[in-house]
Amino acid sequence: MNVKHFLCYTLGPMKSPSISVVVPVYNEQKSLEELHARLRAILAQVASRSECIFVDDGSRDRSYRVLQQIRQTDPTVRIIRFRRNFGKSAALSAGFTAARCDLVITLDGDLQDLPEEIPKLLAMLDQGYDLVSGWRSQRQDPWMKRLASRLYNFTTAKLTGVRLHDFNCGFKGYRREVLDELRVYGERHRYIPVLASYRGFRIGEVKVEHAPRRYGQSKFGWDRFLGGFFTLLTVILLTRYTNRPLHFFGIVGLITALAGLAIDGYLAIERLLFKKWLGDRPLLLLGTLLLIIGIQFIFFGLLAEMIAATYRRERDYSIAESTPSAELEPEQEAAVSPDSVADGERPKTLRFSRGSED
Ligand code: UDP
Ligand code: MG
Repeated sequence: MNVKHFLCYTLGPMKSPSISVVVPVYNEQKSLEELHARLRAILAQVASRSECIFVDDGSRDRSYRVLQQIRQTDPTVRIIRFRRNFGKSAALSAGFTAARCDLVITLDGDLQDLPEEIPKLLAMLDQGYDLVSGWRSQRQDPWMKRLASRLYNFTTAKLTGVRLHDFNCGFKGYRREVLDELRVYGERHRYIPVLASYRGFRIGEVKVEHAPRRYGQSKFGWDRFLGGFFTLLTVILLTRYTNRPLHFFGIVGLITALAGLAIDGYLAIERLLFKKWLGDRPLLLLGTLLLIIGIQFIFFGLLAEMIAATYRRERDYSIAESTPSAELEPEQEAAVSPDSVADGERPKTLRFSRGSED
């Protein structure tokens, strides 16, 4: 089935959307020309308006020059160039800020994601999903990476409750509203679906083809899985407990302190009732340590509450729709003019106008 047939079949009479494509680029000089040509070809068929935003994340090869050459032939291409390598999250975030269209598609700059698969994402977005994530079911990467990725996806899905098979897939489609509400930094690009789901957006998943890397090297090694785990902890903390940190620290602190209290209580009973000497009991050290750590955890929680109360920047709710405000009724004239108000009697309506005599 060619693309046009596929589109008629899946998108139906849907009005062609305007699409911003965001591509993070770090040393991908050899793929860029082909990627751009393929993107142009597919966007011409599916979008009413489109733009390709390439974010050069401090490449040290000729990527930026290649991008400049591409822009000379296609003015809808936009280039953002970082001064140094800031990481994929930063590159995506800069692209999201620059994107101006209704829908935003992200894909990797190494040709591992196929631009021809964009209609699949669009079809899902058209079904009402706010974020559609690609699922590289036949991932073309070394088996070690695939195995680690499976483990990672399984853990993330279990811990966050978001049922996706491939969180880290760079190929995703978004409605604008989703991106307006998310802040992507650090390593958080891996958890965009988690953050979006937490804010109530509908998350979908669609199987996409994946190609082996033809040029250059992968930028992510083993360290990413360790880093990814820490980011997962942060995301869980920030999504579930950001408005009530004491609930997290408090529980940990309470459990620890109670364990310490139980141990020390037991030792105290032995000392008082059975006259057992405590000087050579390592358990005493453990009990006391747990007690102190537990109390400290509770105080961390209180501090975190104070910080959360002071620095609340994000809205902690997300509005799907709100009815437009009706025209306010024209200002009513004061039913009773102030002059006619008898002493001690209040006028029924009051006029609030600047500079009125009080
Ligand atoms: N990338 C980036 N900044 C980085 C690392 C990677 O913009 O610091 C880009 C990279 O150019 C590619 C995408 O992120 O377009 C995914 O990287 P890569 O293909 O190395 O990841 P893998 O496919 O091996 O998971
Ligand atoms: Mg890749």
